[in-house]
Amino acid sequence: MKKHKDLTHILTSNKMRITTPRRLLLQYVLDNKNKQLSFKEVQDFLNEKLASVDRSSIYRNLETFKRLDIIQELNLPKVGKRFQYVFDRKVHHFYICKACGKSNKGKEDLFNKIEAALKDIHGFSKANLSLVFYGYCSKCVRPL
Ligand SMILES: [Zn+2]
Repeated sequence: MKKHKDLTHILTSNKMRITTPRRLLLQYVLDNKNKQLSFKEVQDFLNEKLASVDRSSIYRNLETFKRLDIIQELNLPKVGKRFQYVFDRKVHHFYICKACGKSNKGKEDLFNKIEAALKDIHGFSKANLSLVFYGYCSKCVRPL
């Protein structure tokens, strides 16, 4: 379980204790890498494993994971807040259709272009490009 070890290392190197809820949450997020998890799913999972986990501590842990770029928060139209695993993935951006709510991962091409433009225009490099674009997909876009 290399990934889990890497992530645990990230936590400890950021001076975080590996508490049981944190470890479970980490595992859950890893096991559901390709899913966009709702807060309720996370909460249900933790409540099933542990006798009592309060909402605020789940929130805090999710915030921590966000800050460490382990997960990203997406605000999906009609669906609400979702958490998506992004750690060790090169592309950290999503584009989401405001009409149908469909979310897609951005391609690396776009990522590279944004990175080049950021460097070109602002002299800025090694940015963490965690971006979410909201707009309309080709099926939903309204003709002008
Ligand atoms: Zn759409």
